[in-house]
Amino acid sequence: MGRAFVYVILGGGVAAGYAALEFARRGVSAGELCIISEESVAPYERPALSKGFLLPEAPTRLPAFHTCVGSNKERLTPKWYTEQGIELVLGTRVKSADVKRKTLTTAAGETISYKILIIATGARALKLEEFGVRESDAENICYLRNFADATKLVSIIQTCNGGNAVVIGGGYIGMECAAALVTNRIKVTMVFPEAHCMARLFTPKIADFYETYYESKGVHFIKGTVLSSFENDSDGKVTEVMLRDGTRIPTNMVVVGIGIRPNTGLFEGQLAIEKGGIKVNGRMQTSNSSVYAVGDVASFPVKLFGSDIRRLEHVDSARKTASHAVSAIIAPETISDFDYLPFFYSRVFTLSWQFYGDSVGEVIHYGDFIAGRCGAYWVDKGRIVGAFLEGGDRDDYAAIAEAVKLKMVVKEKGEVEELGVEFVSRA
Ligand code: FAD
Repeated sequence: MGRAFVYVILGGGVAAGYAALEFARRGVSAGELCIISEESVAPYERPALSKGFLLPEAPTRLPAFHTCVGSNKERLTPKWYTEQGIELVLGTRVKSADVKRKTLTTAAGETISYKILIIATGARALKLEEFGVRESDAENICYLRNFADATKLVSIIQTCNGGNAVVIGGGYIGMECAAALVTNRIKVTMVFPEAHCMARLFTPKIADFYETYYESKGVHFIKGTVLSSFENDSDGKVTEVMLRDGTRIPTNMVVVGIGIRPNTGLFEGQLAIEKGGIKVNGRMQTSNSSVYAVGDVASFPVKLFGSDIRRLEHVDSARKTASHAVSAIIAPETISDFDYLPFFYSRVFTLSWQFYGDSVGEVIHYGDFIAGRCGAYWVDKGRIVGAFLEGGDRDDYAAIAEAVKLKMVVKEKGEVEELGVEFVSRA
Protein backbone atom coordinates (compact mmCIF):
# COMPACT_ATOMS: atom_id res chain seq x y z
CA MET A 1 0.00 0.00 0.00
CA GLY A 2 1.24 3.45 -0.74
CA ARG A 3 0.57 6.85 -2.13
CA ALA A 4 1.79 8.39 -5.38
CA PHE A 5 2.52 12.05 -6.15
CA VAL A 6 3.95 13.90 -9.10
CA TYR A 7 6.20 15.97 -6.84
CA VAL A 8 7.51 15.08 -3.40
CA ILE A 9 9.54 17.42 -1.20
CA LEU A 10 11.47 15.41 1.38
CA GLY A 11 12.00 17.59 4.46
CA GLY A 12 9.78 20.29 5.94
CA GLY A 13 12.14 23.15 6.77
CA VAL A 14 13.02 26.50 5.23
CA ALA A 15 13.74 25.22 1.72
CA ALA A 16 10.57 23.08 1.67
CA GLY A 17 8.41 26.12 2.49
CA TYR A 18 9.91 28.25 -0.28
CA ALA A 19 9.70 25.37 -2.76
CA ALA A 20 5.98 25.02 -1.93
CA LEU A 21 5.49 28.76 -2.43
CA GLU A 22 7.10 28.59 -5.88
CA PHE A 23 4.99 25.55 -6.83
CA ALA A 24 1.85 27.46 -5.80
CA ARG A 25 2.92 30.53 -7.77
CA ARG A 26 3.54 28.52 -10.89
CA GLY A 27 0.35 26.53 -10.48
CA VAL A 28 0.30 23.04 -9.04
CA SER A 29 -2.88 20.97 -9.15
CA ALA A 30 -4.48 19.66 -5.97
CA GLY A 31 -3.00 16.33 -4.95
CA GLU A 32 0.11 16.63 -7.13
CA LEU A 33 2.54 17.76 -4.41
CA CYS A 34 3.33 16.45 -0.97
CA ILE A 35 5.84 17.48 1.71
CA ILE A 36 7.12 14.82 4.07
CA SER A 37 8.65 16.06 7.31
CA GLU A 38 9.89 14.46 10.48
CA GLU A 39 8.86 17.61 12.33
CA SER A 40 5.35 17.90 13.73
CA VAL A 41 4.77 21.45 12.46
CA ALA A 42 4.43 22.94 8.97
CA PRO A 43 7.57 24.58 7.47
CA TYR A 44 8.75 27.65 9.33
CA GLU A 45 11.54 30.23 9.39
CA ARG A 46 14.17 28.32 11.39
CA PRO A 47 16.31 31.38 12.36
CA ALA A 48 13.47 32.51 14.66
CA LEU A 49 14.29 29.60 17.00
CA SER A 50 17.45 31.26 18.31
CA LYS A 51 16.03 34.80 18.27
CA GLY A 52 12.38 35.77 18.89
CA PHE A 53 11.46 32.28 20.15
CA LEU A 54 13.86 32.58 23.11
CA LEU A 55 12.80 36.05 24.27
CA PRO A 56 11.63 36.23 27.90
CA GLU A 57 8.86 38.68 27.03
CA ALA A 58 6.40 38.40 24.14
CA PRO A 59 8.30 35.53 22.50
CA THR A 60 7.51 34.60 18.90
CA ARG A 61 5.40 31.49 18.63
CA LEU A 62 3.90 29.51 15.75
CA PRO A 63 1.91 30.25 13.65
CA ALA A 64 3.61 33.69 13.66
CA PHE A 65 6.86 32.48 12.03
CA HIS A 66 5.69 30.02 9.42
CA THR A 67 7.44 30.39 6.04
CA CYS A 68 7.62 33.88 4.55
CA VAL A 69 7.04 35.93 7.69
CA GLY A 70 8.92 39.20 7.41
CA SER A 71 9.24 39.17 3.63
CA ASN A 72 5.96 40.93 2.82
CA LYS A 73 4.62 37.72 1.42
CA GLU A 74 1.74 35.56 2.51
CA ARG A 75 2.44 33.45 5.61
CA LEU A 76 2.25 29.74 4.77
CA THR A 77 0.15 28.35 7.61
CA PRO A 78 -1.20 24.77 7.54
CA LYS A 79 -4.46 26.28 6.17
CA TRP A 80 -2.54 27.71 3.20
CA TYR A 81 -1.27 24.22 2.26
CA THR A 82 -4.82 22.83 2.47
CA GLU A 83 -6.13 25.65 0.27
CA GLN A 84 -3.43 24.94 -2.31
CA GLY A 85 -4.14 21.21 -2.31
CA ILE A 86 -0.60 20.51 -1.06
CA GLU A 87 -0.43 17.52 1.23
CA LEU A 88 1.58 17.92 4.44
CA VAL A 89 2.76 14.58 5.78
CA LEU A 90 4.10 15.66 9.18
CA GLY A 91 5.69 13.74 12.04
CA THR A 92 6.90 11.24 9.46
CA ARG A 93 10.50 10.14 9.06
CA VAL A 94 11.60 8.67 5.76
CA LYS A 95 13.90 5.77 6.55
CA SER A 96 14.91 4.67 3.06
CA ALA A 97 14.91 5.95 -0.51
CA ASP A 98 15.25 4.18 -3.84
CA VAL A 99 15.99 6.65 -6.61
CA LYS A 100 15.85 3.99 -9.34
CA ARG A 101 12.33 2.92 -8.36
CA LYS A 102 11.40 6.51 -7.38
CA THR A 103 10.11 5.53 -3.96
CA LEU A 104 10.51 6.61 -0.35
CA THR A 105 9.68 4.40 2.60
CA THR A 106 8.57 5.93 5.89
CA ALA A 107 9.47 4.67 9.36
CA ALA A 108 5.87 3.42 9.63
CA GLY A 109 6.42 1.30 6.49
CA GLU A 110 4.42 3.33 3.97
CA THR A 111 5.79 3.61 0.44
CA ILE A 112 5.42 7.00 -1.23
CA SER A 113 6.30 7.25 -4.89
CA TYR A 114 7.14 10.32 -6.98
CA LYS A 115 7.92 11.42 -10.50
CA ILE A 116 10.15 14.26 -9.29
CA LEU A 117 11.79 14.41 -5.86
CA ILE A 118 13.21 17.51 -4.15
CA ILE A 119 15.55 16.61 -1.31
CA ALA A 120 15.36 19.30 1.39
CA THR A 121 16.53 17.31 4.39
CA GLY A 122 18.81 20.07 5.72
CA ALA A 123 21.23 19.12 8.44
CA ARG A 124 21.34 17.81 11.99
CA ALA A 125 23.18 19.17 15.00
CA LEU A 126 26.40 17.34 15.82
CA LYS A 127 26.20 15.60 19.19
CA LEU A 128 28.83 15.53 21.93
CA GLU A 129 28.87 11.70 21.79
CA GLU A 130 30.38 12.00 18.32
CA PHE A 131 33.38 13.66 19.99
CA GLY A 132 33.69 10.96 22.63
CA VAL A 133 31.91 12.80 25.49
CA ARG A 134 29.94 10.30 27.53
CA GLU A 135 26.70 10.76 29.47
CA SER A 136 25.79 13.78 27.40
CA ASP A 137 22.07 13.07 27.22
CA ALA A 138 21.15 14.73 30.54
CA GLU A 139 17.83 16.56 30.53
CA ASN A 140 19.44 19.99 31.08
CA ILE A 141 21.73 19.67 28.02
CA CYS A 142 20.20 21.42 25.01
CA TYR A 143 20.89 21.45 21.29
CA LEU A 144 19.16 23.77 18.85
CA ARG A 145 18.21 22.67 15.37
CA ASN A 146 14.46 22.19 15.28
CA PHE A 147 11.19 23.17 16.87
CA ALA A 148 11.32 20.35 19.42
CA ASP A 149 14.86 21.39 20.50
CA ALA A 150 13.76 25.02 20.88
CA THR A 151 10.71 24.03 22.92
CA LYS A 152 12.94 22.02 25.28
CA LEU A 153 15.44 24.89 25.51
CA VAL A 154 12.69 27.34 26.51
CA SER A 155 11.45 25.03 29.25
CA ILE A 156 14.99 24.57 30.65
CA ILE A 157 15.62 28.34 30.50
CA GLN A 158 12.47 28.88 32.56
CA THR A 159 13.83 26.68 35.36
CA CYS A 160 17.22 28.45 35.40
CA ASN A 161 16.27 32.08 35.97
CA GLY A 162 19.08 33.79 37.91
CA GLY A 163 21.26 30.69 37.46
CA ASN A 164 24.27 29.73 35.33
CA ALA A 165 24.63 28.29 31.86
CA VAL A 166 27.60 26.94 29.93
CA VAL A 167 27.49 27.36 26.16
CA ILE A 168 29.74 24.92 24.30
CA GLY A 169 30.81 26.26 20.88
CA GLY A 170 31.60 29.74 19.58
CA GLY A 171 29.73 29.65 16.26
CA TYR A 172 26.53 31.52 15.52
CA ILE A 173 24.30 29.09 17.43
CA GLY A 174 26.51 29.51 20.51
CA MET A 175 26.63 33.29 20.11
CA GLU A 176 22.88 33.70 19.54
CA CYS A 177 21.98 31.34 22.38
CA ALA A 178 24.42 33.07 24.78
CA ALA A 179 22.76 36.42 24.01
CA ALA A 180 19.29 34.91 24.53
CA LEU A 181 20.32 33.34 27.85
CA VAL A 182 21.69 36.68 29.13
CA THR A 183 18.41 38.35 28.11
CA ASN A 184 16.70 35.68 30.23
CA ARG A 185 18.86 36.75 33.22
CA ILE A 186 21.08 33.68 33.13
CA LYS A 187 24.86 34.05 33.68
CA VAL A 188 26.77 32.60 30.74
CA THR A 189 30.20 31.05 30.29
CA MET A 190 31.13 30.30 26.67
CA VAL A 191 33.70 27.58 25.97
CA PHE A 192 35.33 26.89 22.60
CA PRO A 193 38.66 25.59 21.30
CA GLU A 194 39.44 28.41 18.87
CA ALA A 195 41.27 31.65 19.70
CA HIS A 196 38.12 33.71 19.16
CA CYS A 197 34.40 33.41 18.45
CA MET A 198 32.96 32.77 14.95
CA ALA A 199 36.38 31.54 13.86
CA ARG A 200 35.20 30.41 10.41
CA LEU A 201 34.19 33.96 9.44
CA PHE A 202 35.30 36.64 11.90
CA THR A 203 38.78 38.14 11.86
CA PRO A 204 40.39 38.58 15.31
CA LYS A 205 39.48 42.29 15.15
CA ILE A 206 35.80 41.66 14.36
CA ALA A 207 35.63 38.92 17.01
CA ASP A 208 37.16 41.25 19.58
CA PHE A 209 34.37 43.77 18.96
CA TYR A 210 31.66 41.15 19.71
CA GLU A 211 33.51 39.52 22.61
CA THR A 212 34.00 42.92 24.28
CA TYR A 213 30.29 43.63 23.84
CA TYR A 214 29.35 40.21 25.29
CA GLU A 215 31.71 40.73 28.23
CA SER A 216 29.97 44.04 28.95
CA LYS A 217 26.77 41.96 29.26
CA GLY A 218 28.46 39.64 31.75
CA VAL A 219 29.42 36.75 29.43
CA HIS A 220 32.65 34.99 30.42
CA PHE A 221 34.78 33.43 27.65
CA ILE A 222 37.02 30.39 28.09
CA LYS A 223 38.91 29.89 24.84
CA GLY A 224 41.44 27.41 23.53
CA THR A 225 40.06 24.40 25.38
CA VAL A 226 37.24 21.89 25.12
CA LEU A 227 34.80 20.06 27.31
CA SER A 228 36.03 16.77 28.72
CA SER A 229 33.12 15.53 30.87
CA PHE A 230 30.11 16.35 33.03
CA GLU A 231 29.38 15.92 36.74
CA ASN A 232 25.74 14.88 37.23
CA ASP A 233 23.48 14.87 40.31
CA SER A 234 21.41 11.86 41.40
CA ASP A 235 18.58 12.91 39.02
CA GLY A 236 21.03 12.78 36.11
CA LYS A 237 21.16 16.55 35.69
CA VAL A 238 24.48 18.20 34.86
CA THR A 239 25.78 20.22 37.80
CA GLU A 240 29.35 20.84 36.66
CA VAL A 241 31.19 21.04 33.35
CA MET A 242 34.78 19.80 33.33
CA LEU A 243 37.20 21.16 30.73
CA ARG A 244 40.30 19.53 29.32
CA ASP A 245 42.47 22.28 30.86
CA GLY A 246 41.23 21.21 34.32
CA THR A 247 38.70 24.03 34.84
CA ARG A 248 35.43 23.02 36.55
CA ILE A 249 32.37 25.21 35.94
CA PRO A 250 29.27 24.80 38.16
CA THR A 251 26.15 25.15 36.03
CA ASN A 252 22.38 24.76 35.91
CA MET A 253 22.20 24.08 32.18
CA VAL A 254 24.31 23.50 29.07
CA VAL A 255 23.71 24.57 25.46
CA VAL A 256 25.72 22.80 22.77
CA GLY A 257 26.35 24.36 19.35
CA ILE A 258 29.28 22.48 17.82
CA GLY A 259 28.29 22.37 14.17
CA ILE A 260 26.01 20.47 11.87
CA ARG A 261 26.14 17.53 9.48
CA PRO A 262 24.02 17.51 6.30
CA ASN A 263 21.35 14.79 6.13
CA THR A 264 22.65 12.96 3.06
CA GLY A 265 22.47 9.43 4.52
CA LEU A 266 19.40 8.22 2.59
CA PHE A 267 21.10 8.95 -0.73
CA GLU A 268 24.72 7.95 -0.21
CA GLY A 269 25.69 5.39 -2.83
CA GLN A 270 22.77 6.51 -5.04
CA LEU A 271 23.61 10.15 -5.82
CA ALA A 272 26.90 12.02 -6.33
CA ILE A 273 28.16 13.63 -3.12
CA GLU A 274 30.63 16.52 -2.93
CA LYS A 275 31.81 18.79 -0.10
CA GLY A 276 29.65 16.76 2.27
CA GLY A 277 26.43 17.54 0.39
CA ILE A 278 24.39 16.16 -2.50
CA LYS A 279 26.00 17.51 -5.66
CA VAL A 280 23.71 19.45 -8.00
CA ASN A 281 24.13 21.43 -11.20
CA GLY A 282 23.05 25.04 -11.82
CA ARG A 283 19.43 23.84 -11.99
CA MET A 284 19.67 22.10 -8.59
CA GLN A 285 19.45 18.73 -10.34
CA THR A 286 21.39 15.84 -8.82
CA SER A 287 23.22 13.05 -10.66
CA ASN A 288 19.74 11.48 -11.13
CA SER A 289 17.66 13.68 -13.45
CA SER A 290 14.41 13.07 -11.49
CA VAL A 291 15.94 14.22 -8.21
CA TYR A 292 16.76 17.77 -7.11
CA ALA A 293 18.46 18.92 -3.89
CA VAL A 294 18.18 22.30 -2.18
CA GLY A 295 19.14 24.10 1.03
CA ASP A 296 21.78 23.00 3.54
CA VAL A 297 22.02 19.49 2.05
CA ALA A 298 22.93 20.65 -1.48
CA SER A 299 26.39 21.38 -2.88
CA PHE A 300 26.00 23.68 -5.87
CA PRO A 301 28.22 25.64 -8.26
CA VAL A 302 28.62 29.28 -7.25
CA LYS A 303 29.15 31.25 -10.48
CA LEU A 304 30.63 34.17 -8.57
CA PHE A 305 33.42 31.89 -7.31
CA GLY A 306 34.22 30.49 -10.79
CA SER A 307 31.53 27.79 -10.41
CA ASP A 308 33.37 26.32 -7.43
CA ILE A 309 31.09 23.79 -5.71
CA ARG A 310 29.95 25.04 -2.29
CA ARG A 311 27.57 23.83 0.38
CA LEU A 312 26.12 26.76 2.31
CA GLU A 313 24.34 26.59 5.66
CA HIS A 314 22.38 29.82 5.37
CA VAL A 315 18.71 30.62 5.26
CA ASP A 316 18.89 32.89 2.20
CA SER A 317 20.55 30.16 0.15
CA ALA A 318 17.90 27.64 1.32
CA ARG A 319 15.11 29.97 0.15
CA LYS A 320 16.66 30.78 -3.22
CA THR A 321 17.92 27.30 -4.15
CA ALA A 322 14.41 26.01 -3.41
CA SER A 323 12.67 28.56 -5.65
CA HIS A 324 15.24 27.98 -8.36
CA ALA A 325 14.77 24.19 -8.33
CA VAL A 326 11.00 24.50 -8.68
CA SER A 327 11.36 26.98 -11.55
CA ALA A 328 13.79 24.57 -13.23
CA ILE A 329 11.27 21.74 -12.83
CA ILE A 330 8.10 23.57 -13.93
CA ALA A 331 9.40 26.09 -16.44
CA PRO A 332 12.95 25.09 -17.44
CA GLU A 333 12.95 27.37 -20.49
CA THR A 334 12.45 30.46 -18.30
CA ILE A 335 15.57 30.12 -16.19
CA SER A 336 19.33 29.98 -16.55
CA ASP A 337 21.87 28.44 -14.21
CA PHE A 338 21.64 29.58 -10.59
CA ASP A 339 23.64 32.75 -10.05
CA TYR A 340 23.96 33.38 -6.35
CA LEU A 341 25.67 35.88 -4.08
CA PRO A 342 26.27 34.02 -0.79
CA PHE A 343 24.68 35.92 2.09
CA PHE A 344 24.62 35.27 5.83
CA TYR A 345 23.38 37.37 8.74
CA SER A 346 22.97 37.24 12.48
CA ARG A 347 21.31 39.36 15.18
CA VAL A 348 22.36 39.36 18.83
CA PHE A 349 21.30 41.76 21.61
CA THR A 350 20.87 45.05 19.73
CA LEU A 351 23.66 44.18 17.29
CA SER A 352 23.11 43.01 13.75
CA TRP A 353 25.51 42.06 10.94
CA GLN A 354 25.50 40.87 7.36
CA PHE A 355 28.14 39.12 5.28
CA TYR A 356 28.29 38.66 1.51
CA GLY A 357 30.62 36.58 -0.65
CA ASP A 358 33.70 34.67 0.39
CA SER A 359 36.10 35.20 3.31
CA VAL A 360 39.37 34.63 1.41
CA GLY A 361 42.34 36.87 0.69
CA GLU A 362 43.62 39.97 2.44
CA VAL A 363 41.33 41.66 4.96
CA ILE A 364 40.80 45.43 5.08
CA HIS A 365 38.90 46.64 8.13
CA TYR A 366 36.94 49.88 8.16
CA GLY A 367 34.65 51.92 10.40
CA ASP A 368 34.34 52.50 14.11
CA PHE A 369 35.10 49.37 16.15
CA ILE A 370 34.18 51.17 19.38
CA ALA A 371 30.81 52.75 18.50
CA GLY A 372 29.81 49.91 16.22
CA ARG A 373 29.31 50.76 12.52
CA CYS A 374 32.26 48.70 11.39
CA GLY A 375 33.24 45.98 9.00
CA ALA A 376 35.74 44.44 6.62
CA TYR A 377 36.33 43.70 2.97
CA TRP A 378 38.15 40.58 1.80
CA VAL A 379 40.34 41.30 -1.23
CA ASP A 380 41.63 38.56 -3.51
CA LYS A 381 43.76 39.24 -6.61
CA GLY A 382 43.06 42.95 -6.27
CA ARG A 383 39.26 42.58 -6.15
CA ILE A 384 36.66 42.60 -3.37
CA VAL A 385 35.34 39.05 -2.90
CA GLY A 386 33.76 39.35 0.55
CA ALA A 387 32.20 42.07 2.70
CA PHE A 388 31.07 42.23 6.33
CA LEU A 389 29.22 45.02 8.09
CA GLU A 390 27.92 45.46 11.62
CA GLY A 391 25.31 48.12 12.35
CA GLY A 392 24.45 49.18 8.80
CA ASP A 393 21.12 50.26 7.38
CA ARG A 394 19.36 48.83 4.32
CA ASP A 395 21.32 51.04 1.88
CA ASP A 396 24.64 50.19 3.53
CA TYR A 397 24.02 46.47 3.20
CA ALA A 398 22.91 46.89 -0.41
CA ALA A 399 26.16 48.81 -1.07
CA ILE A 400 28.50 46.16 0.36
CA ALA A 401 26.56 43.43 -1.47
CA GLU A 402 27.05 45.37 -4.69
CA ALA A 403 30.80 45.70 -4.04
CA VAL A 404 31.07 41.91 -3.89
CA LYS A 405 28.73 41.29 -6.83
CA LEU A 406 30.78 43.64 -9.00
CA LYS A 407 34.06 42.31 -7.57
CA MET A 408 35.20 45.90 -7.29
CA VAL A 409 38.85 46.61 -7.98
CA VAL A 410 40.92 47.81 -5.04
CA LYS A 411 43.77 50.07 -6.10
CA GLU A 412 44.62 51.59 -2.75
CA LYS A 413 44.06 49.82 0.52
CA GLY A 414 44.00 53.17 2.37
CA GLU A 415 41.10 54.44 0.28
CA VAL A 416 38.98 51.37 1.12
CA GLU A 417 39.89 51.66 4.79
CA GLU A 418 38.85 55.30 4.83
CA LEU A 419 35.68 55.06 2.73
CA GLY A 420 34.36 51.77 4.11
CA VAL A 421 30.72 51.35 3.05
CA GLU A 422 30.94 54.46 0.85
CA PHE A 423 33.71 52.89 -1.23
CA VAL A 424 31.07 51.51 -3.60
CA SER A 425 29.38 54.82 -4.34
CA ARG A 426 32.65 56.74 -4.75
CA ALA A 427 34.53 54.20 -6.85
P1 FAD B 1 16.08 22.68 7.45
O1 FAD B 1 15.42 23.99 7.62
O2 FAD B 1 16.94 22.15 8.54
O3 FAD B 1 14.94 21.59 7.15
C1 FAD B 1 15.22 20.23 6.99
C2 FAD B 1 13.95 19.45 7.24
O4 FAD B 1 14.09 18.12 6.80
C3 FAD B 1 13.55 19.37 8.71
O5 FAD B 1 12.17 19.65 8.83
C4 FAD B 1 13.84 17.91 9.06
O6 FAD B 1 13.03 17.41 10.09
C5 FAD B 1 13.51 17.24 7.75
N1 FAD B 1 14.11 15.91 7.55
C6 FAD B 1 15.43 15.60 7.55
N2 FAD B 1 15.58 14.27 7.32
C7 FAD B 1 14.33 13.75 7.19
C8 FAD B 1 13.82 12.43 6.97
N3 FAD B 1 14.65 11.37 6.82
N4 FAD B 1 12.49 12.25 6.90
C9 FAD B 1 11.63 13.32 7.04
N5 FAD B 1 12.07 14.58 7.26
C10 FAD B 1 13.38 14.79 7.34
N6 FAD B 1 20.89 31.14 8.75
C11 FAD B 1 21.12 32.46 8.47
O7 FAD B 1 21.53 32.79 7.35
N7 FAD B 1 20.93 33.42 9.44
C12 FAD B 1 20.49 33.10 10.69
O8 FAD B 1 20.33 33.99 11.53
C13 FAD B 1 20.24 31.74 11.00
N8 FAD B 1 19.78 31.39 12.22
C14 FAD B 1 19.58 30.07 12.50
C15 FAD B 1 19.16 29.71 13.78
C16 FAD B 1 18.97 28.38 14.11
C17 FAD B 1 18.51 28.02 15.49
C18 FAD B 1 19.24 27.36 13.15
C19 FAD B 1 19.09 25.92 13.52
C20 FAD B 1 19.65 27.71 11.87
C21 FAD B 1 19.81 29.07 11.53
N9 FAD B 1 20.24 29.45 10.26
C22 FAD B 1 20.47 30.77 9.97
C23 FAD B 1 20.45 28.44 9.20
C24 FAD B 1 19.17 28.20 8.40
O9 FAD B 1 18.07 28.06 9.26
C25 FAD B 1 19.36 26.96 7.54
O10 FAD B 1 20.34 27.28 6.57
C26 FAD B 1 18.05 26.55 6.86
O11 FAD B 1 17.10 26.16 7.81
C27 FAD B 1 18.30 25.41 5.87
O12 FAD B 1 17.08 25.05 5.32
P2 FAD B 1 16.81 23.55 4.82
O13 FAD B 1 15.40 23.51 4.39
O14 FAD B 1 17.89 23.13 3.92
O15 FAD B 1 16.97 22.66 6.14
